[in-house]
Amino acid sequence: MSETGSSTGIPIPGWAEKVADSLGAGPHVVVSGISVSGNIHAGNLREVLVAEAAANALRARGEEVRFIFHADTIDPLRKLAPGIPQSYEEYIGHSLSHIPDPEGCHVSYAEHFLVPFEEALREMEMDIEVLRSHELYEQGVYTEVTREAIEHTNKLRRILQDVTNRKMPEHWSPYLPRSEDSGKLTGNLVMSHLPERSSVLYMDEDGREDTADYSRGEGKLGWRVELAARWKALGVTFEPFGKDHTSRGGSTDTADRMSREVFHYPVPGRYEYEWIGLKGRGDMSSSRGIVLLPKNLLEIMPPDAVRRIILGRDPARRFDIDLEGGFPHFMDEYRAEAGEPYVPFAHLVTVAQTVGEDTDAAAQMLRRGGYEDAARDMDRLARDLCYARNWAAEWAPESMRLGLLDPAESGEMAANLDDEQRAYLREVSGRLRAEMDGEAVQDVLYSTATERGLKPKRAFAAVYKVLLGKSSGPKAGPFIAGLTLDQVRERFPV
Ligand SMILES: [Zn+2]
Repeated sequence: MSETGSSTGIPIPGWAEKVADSLGAGPHVVVSGISVSGNIHAGNLREVLVAEAAANALRARGEEVRFIFHADTIDPLRKLAPGIPQSYEEYIGHSLSHIPDPEGCHVSYAEHFLVPFEEALREMEMDIEVLRSHELYEQGVYTEVTREAIEHTNKLRRILQDVTNRKMPEHWSPYLPRSEDSGKLTGNLVMSHLPERSSVLYMDEDGREDTADYSRGEGKLGWRVELAARWKALGVTFEPFGKDHTSRGGSTDTADRMSREVFHYPVPGRYEYEWIGLKGRGDMSSSRGIVLLPKNLLEIMPPDAVRRIILGRDPARRFDIDLEGGFPHFMDEYRAEAGEPYVPFAHLVTVAQTVGEDTDAAAQMLRRGGYEDAARDMDRLARDLCYARNWAAEWAPESMRLGLLDPAESGEMAANLDDEQRAYLREVSGRLRAEMDGEAVQDVLYSTATERGLKPKRAFAAVYKVLLGKSSGPKAGPFIAGLTLDQVRERFPV
């Protein structure tokens, strides 16, 4: 991390500086395009964040940048994502923007998956324009490139065959008209081009002939052609791609040639990012149901920490994000670099689980534990406690999940201890003082055990049992120092 973007305050990583170097003078149009056929997961977010970092690096150099999220809303539904009812088979081949929301909460299937992602981008205060491809077609943004593509059908077909080594059907067309009758984009044959009407004559699967006006969104370009066409239509100068697109014979190979040879448009700058996985669960994939949503991340950390964990040190490398046992360490590193007041995330997790949503009690607990700075800004503290609580509920390993027992439960636990342990707790209770900090309490716990000839392991097990109902827990001294003396005494045997 070197400089800071002038407008955003988001650190600009070194690889993004190199991207900006290679792109040179603008104006620039940075695009990231994502399918809305299923959940837009945190892996997809990596693409947007790569684009954002490049856009910010360019902006920091004073370049004019238009940063676009191109949602492929007009694309046909190809297969059903996990959780989509089988009855949706009937919509296969229909535009995602023309299919009803499977849960009925948004205006279309596309919006159902796009809106939550858009909300996450907004929450991250991203300076990005979200464009819906069906609207771009309806507004005529793609009219000229579509005309060009249809006029060069043979040339496009040759490129596709050359690059993919697959023979294209005789009646192949770069354009997919939507059948007025069936609503499907697939299975319709383009018979002829009517350039003066910006239309094609097509025959649908049932042999019916009709026309589709490509200046009004009555169809779309096939995906591979559309990629090159949209570079020209939107004036794209940079777009990141995942390895699924950049493999040999993949969509960037065909789009590069189409861009140069058919659309006569320079191939935009590119960054190839690797996928991310979720530790212990594998690569993220909507079709396999391994899905972590951006909002799941925003529930447990601030937006800039999301940027950091998703991009990693180098987005050209694959890695697994660890939201379980390794997460507190990640948060500690993040908070230190962000200049946030020092308190270990693991301690915040303990505090959050001990006081519930009572921020004042949390502040007192932090002060007693020696973390005065962390208790100063109450708004920030409320936010941090919320992250810690959500993480504890969703991701924390069992050993970090705690809840202070109520005094009656503690009594039951104490009844199951042996006499030595009960006597030990009784003595500790008498020796604790309200003004003691974590270290002083830890000292009392140790020295009392040693003086009584009780093994520390059994002594501490007794402490954890009556407070938390478990045989281990967070470091006992600071934890007890965070509680009030009454809270401790009510739970220790008398
Ligand atoms: Zn919905």
